[in-house]
Amino acid sequence: MLSGNVDPGLYQPSALSTEELAAGKVLLCCATALGDVEIEYESAAAPSAVREYSARVVNMEKLTHDVMRVMLKLPHGQQISFKAGQYINIILDDGQRRAFSFANPPHLPDLIELQIRLMPGGRYTTHVFEHMKEDDAVQFEGPLGDFSLRESERPIVFVAGATGFAPVKSMVEDAFHRGLKRPIYLYWGVRQLADLYLPDLPQRWARDHANFHFIPVLSDAAPDDHWTGRTGLVHEAILEDFPDLGGHEIYACGSVKMVEAIFPTLKSQGAEEGMCFSDAFTISARSMAFQPKQQAGGK
Ligand SMILES: Cc1cc2nc3c(=O)[nH]c(=O)nc-3n(C[C@H](O)[C@H](O)[C@H](O)COP(=O)(O)OP(=O)(O)OC[C@H]3O[C@@H](n4cnc5c(N)ncnc54)[C@H](O)[C@@H]3O)c2cc1C
Repeated sequence: MLSGNVDPGLYQPSALSTEELAAGKVLLCCATALGDVEIEYESAAAPSAVREYSARVVNMEKLTHDVMRVMLKLPHGQQISFKAGQYINIILDDGQRRAFSFANPPHLPDLIELQIRLMPGGRYTTHVFEHMKEDDAVQFEGPLGDFSLRESERPIVFVAGATGFAPVKSMVEDAFHRGLKRPIYLYWGVRQLADLYLPDLPQRWARDHANFHFIPVLSDAAPDDHWTGRTGLVHEAILEDFPDLGGHEIYACGSVKMVEAIFPTLKSQGAEEGMCFSDAFTISARSMAFQPKQQAGGK
């Protein structure tokens, strides 16, 4: 408990020692608030309430050849509270689920922003690109996942592959909103220049926030790109820039292939086991709800 007073109620001393009580710990199943209280909790200890929602598409914008920004609105001023880095499961007609991350930060909950990448031959993403239109209804459940910023003072290294930028955008905007002054490095790895589908946004963040650094990395730049920036695989750029990754927190989001490739090498250069976090964008199992493949320690 950060502030305020509670009556701890009747509880077993083995569940809460005198020292823990004195340190401000509270058993919320027994305690009664005696006024306004401010609490801090560990996300793993408090699963968020997952609910089903029905939203409307209020805006669609093609950000590049294969990424669509879809804005959803809940009815009657309804809002969903979530943590930056979490995602929703879109529920298809036959109950199949497709996972997409919140790209908007939690403090701007009026519209849910999704950045949806077309998967060639993919059922739902093809629907989004070919048939979805404004005012369509979208069923989803959420919020889901515990890919979110840990509270610490460590420098943060974000690694985004393609639309892995979506949850990172939410987390970075949330960090700015909360006034975090930790150094933040964003490595956004894509194939070609056109795949950096919101190029101005992280550049603007870098201009506006001295603690934020943006490093786009192209793995297969086209001649027409006239690219003079970083090239190669995104984790190679990180390895070049950080001779020792000890003391950093690393958050990676993108394809399973990218996420699986990067952590072993980053760990061989000092990244600590419990300081690497990820959500890998697995594709859907044919008839099951999604389970994100969680890669690294601390989740
Ligand atoms: C936690 C999480 C968050 C995510 N967030 C985002 C996000 O913010 N933005 C985003 O763009 N993506 C995100 N993804 C990935 C996204 O969920 C998938 O790209 C999406 O579900 C694909 O749906 P689909 O119906 O179009 O493709 P599916 O129909 O599920 O097919 C996916 C791919 O598999 C291929 N395929 C289909 N059937 C078969 C088969 N029988 N055998 C082999 N291959 C087949 C398809 O050709 C296609 O390439 C996230 C994933 C997770 C787990």
